[in-house]
Amino acid sequence: MLRVLVVGAGLTGSLCAALLRRTVAGPLHLALWDKAGDAGGRMITANSPQNPRCTADLGAQYITCTPHYAEKHREFYEELLAHGVLVPLTSPIEGMMVKEGDCNFVAPQGISSIIKHYLKESGAEVFFKQRVTQINLRNNVWEVSKETGSPEQFDLVILTMPAPQILELQGDIVNLITECQRQQLASVSYSSRYALGLFYEVGMKIDVPWAGRYITSNPCVRFISIDNQKRSIESSEFGPSLVIHTTVPFGVTHMEHREEDVQQIISQQLETILPGLPQPVATKCQKWRYSQVINSAANCPGQMTLHLNPSLVCGGDGFTHSNFDGCVASALSVLEALKNHI
Ligand SMILES: Cc1cc2nc3c(=O)[nH]c(=O)nc-3n(C[C@H](O)[C@H](O)[C@H](O)COP(=O)(O)OP(=O)(O)OC[C@H]3O[C@@H](n4cnc5c(N)ncnc54)[C@H](O)[C@@H]3O)c2cc1C
Repeated sequence: MLRVLVVGAGLTGSLCAALLRRTVAGPLHLALWDKAGDAGGRMITANSPQNPRCTADLGAQYITCTPHYAEKHREFYEELLAHGVLVPLTSPIEGMMVKEGDCNFVAPQGISSIIKHYLKESGAEVFFKQRVTQINLRNNVWEVSKETGSPEQFDLVILTMPAPQILELQGDIVNLITECQRQQLASVSYSSRYALGLFYEVGMKIDVPWAGRYITSNPCVRFISIDNQKRSIESSEFGPSLVIHTTVPFGVTHMEHREEDVQQIISQQLETILPGLPQPVATKCQKWRYSQVINSAANCPGQMTLHLNPSLVCGGDGFTHSNFDGCVASALSVLEALKNHI
């Protein structure tokens, strides 16, 4: 039985798991570990603690499909559309850059439903709150340690966390990464920002003619989404939700500040843009230290192979670009790199 571990329940990890399940003909034990408490990674959807049906996409907002990727990744789009995981974006987003031929999609059940779709398809055993700390090579098998519990053995390991977090791992992996690979991983850079999700009472109305709006004149707020409207879901059973993304300069300046202080500043700035909003019933402040890739790893074809046999491969948007198609391209590259070992 081939024992495979995928680290990271974001889009790249969940899709790698689904593609492995489709590809591996023989018996396969597929495990997926994530340090977070839920699936999604940077495509996370938060629930209001007051009403779990009131949700907000705190990371990725919508999927933009260019004519190039509409063709190249056609099967992925067709599958997600056929299952109702994605639907065309029909609500107005003010200030959005629209290029000819592009199509935009939203996930009505929240953006993390894309990841949940692939996890279900993969049949992987998914474990949350499992932070990988060490990777060692023992008798030609990977021994993977986590913060709690005993280390476990795998024949093949796929890492999909942001590049700086690969460099934080301890054990034999430190010496397996060549100097050139270390430099490539260290050169991957990311923007940083905060997201604030606000969950409101049932019946509350936000009276604006848009579902999302890019803000260009505020030092703190870059984007606002009336998240349920963006996804065209309105109900008498749950209230509206609002998502605010900060600007990158604000994110960088406030990265090490106390979350409560940051949340207060964002709320004050929101008041200048949308005055008179009532108090939300719940809030969720998310720090995105690694938000979107600015520079991806140079000369990497969508993945980085740290060891061939047994295989230890890295994927993720750090090897391509930060969006749906970047992650799909990376997952396909990971599978291509593994094709002679599975
Ligand atoms: C604010 C924001 C807005 C965005 N907007 C858009 C958009 O509108 N459209 C779009 O297409 N894309 C957008 N993106 C980019 C998109 O979200 C990312 O490109 C994509 O989600 C990256 O997926 P990934 O699986 O490669 O990485 P991630 O989603 O980061 O997944 C990596 C996972 O690894 C886990 N992990 C890390 N270290 C460990 C460890 N040691 N042990 C176990 N688990 C670990 C993390 O918890 C995480 O779940 C946005 C991103 C952000 C942050």
